[in-house]
Amino acid sequence: MTERKRPFWVRFWGTRGSLPAPRPTTNRYGGNTPCIEVRVHDEVFIFDAGSGIRALGDKLSREFNAVRATLLFTHYHWDHIHGFPFFGPAFRPGNRFAMYGEPRGSRNVREILGGQMAMPYFPVPLEAMRAEFEFHDVGPKMSLQIGKALIRTEALNHPGRALSYRIEFGGKAIVYASDTEHGNKLDARLVAHAAGADVLIYDAAYTEEELASGRKGWGHSTWNEAVKVAQAAKVKKLFLFHHEPARDDRALAVIERKAAKILPGTAAAREGTTYAP
Ligand SMILES: [Zn+2]
Ligand SMILES: [Zn+2]
Repeated sequence: MTERKRPFWVRFWGTRGSLPAPRPTTNRYGGNTPCIEVRVHDEVFIFDAGSGIRALGDKLSREFNAVRATLLFTHYHWDHIHGFPFFGPAFRPGNRFAMYGEPRGSRNVREILGGQMAMPYFPVPLEAMRAEFEFHDVGPKMSLQIGKALIRTEALNHPGRALSYRIEFGGKAIVYASDTEHGNKLDARLVAHAAGADVLIYDAAYTEEELASGRKGWGHSTWNEAVKVAQAAKVKKLFLFHHEPARDDRALAVIERKAAKILPGTAAAREGTTYAP
């Protein structure tokens, strides 16, 4: 917890891709879908609203009388938004959230989040969330100064689009790049976006064998590619992320060891852990 005394840190609330996968054999790396908290002093940034955001909401409500946070969405596949209706602080008047996401056609982030909370999908509409919201469109290759943080965006290779976010503060950078599929060569755009980062959180859903057996075009990468991108971008710390729901802790630990052998310090992201660059 010494990390938490530092001004800039990241905490994993959900590390699992595609579908929550809670069971005794996934306890160590976690079963909740993507949600990442980044702190810049007392400013709260939340990346994605997978099922991990429920517990983050409880924690923020205990910590602050009035919760202020910036939520940034990579894209709107279920695993990145299905925790949002269970984000408790959103229902309380007096809390305030700035919401960033890429529009889809004529629909902005507000309409897209409202869509998943409409009948017949969910009984409680977005309008029942009584916190104050402001909604912002965002797209690739943007630089946004939000409070003390500078946030840069880049496009990822993912069916229906997705964004990567690079958050910079005090000469350090954390890059969140999930979900993305690699081709036959390194994604130069992503390598440039992650260049010199202190932390890279990268989609490592598959093994090479899994990718080759019918999963091409689904929008995800392998842990081998994660290592290559981190090496090319000269990243200081790589976290493998978006763990495959079927992967148990033991199998993930094997992957973690193999990756760390090639790139020392590499870790598979674990739910509930904090890291300060
Ligand atoms: Zn995903
Ligand atoms: Zn996705």
